[in-house]
Amino acid sequence: MSSSIFHRGPALAGPQADGETLESVHQLATACERCDLYRNATQVVFGEGSPNASVILVGEQPGDKEDLAGRPFVGPAGHKLDICLAEAGIDRSQCYLTNAVKHFKFEERGKRRLHAKPNSGEIQRCAYWLAAEIRIVKPRLVVAMGATALASLLGRNVRVTRDRGKLFATPLGFPVLVTVHPSFLLRLPDPEEAAREQARFVDDLRKALPFFPAGPVLEGTGS
Ligand code: SF4
Repeated sequence: MSSSIFHRGPALAGPQADGETLESVHQLATACERCDLYRNATQVVFGEGSPNASVILVGEQPGDKEDLAGRPFVGPAGHKLDICLAEAGIDRSQCYLTNAVKHFKFEERGKRRLHAKPNSGEIQRCAYWLAAEIRIVKPRLVVAMGATALASLLGRNVRVTRDRGKLFATPLGFPVLVTVHPSFLLRLPDPEEAAREQARFVDDLRKALPFFPAGPVLEGTGS
């Protein structure tokens, strides 16, 4: 592990929702008014995947497509994540995927809804749900993809740019792996840089392989 000092963000140290199952917590979250983001979004977008997953992947917030579908990682960033997980030898269905913030935050530009970054208050309020997901799934590893997920899990003293690829121990028993959000790869204009960064992201994801009980999930890939 990279550090013996525990960093704890609100998802590891704050209050959390009651509920014994993901379904019951999801049901409670559909009525959430803990911050203002529920007002303009279509619906809450809760995590999905195996309740027994060894690895939880945490992103930032739902995007436009996720907001409409009510499912996480079904838009362009989710498609990129699927490609990179497969390259790393990881089966998405063996993971639990969720976001640090469960409602879509956006600004309207004409007919378009443009992504807006959640603020620290929104991240803190919504960690209430992520903490419950973690408690129920009991992962062996949590992957923080991007600054918002990292702030929710480990607080503001860990940085994606400085700490990318590192594993941070937590007092809850599982480490947190730091990496970028797959949408970062989509924003890079230079194809060579994008390919380089995608390869780095796949390398980061490969660090999750030892946390699956059976090792690499997809045959013929992985490290
Ligand atoms: S973003 Fe999170 S805390 Fe805010 S209303 Fe939605 S579910 Fe509740």
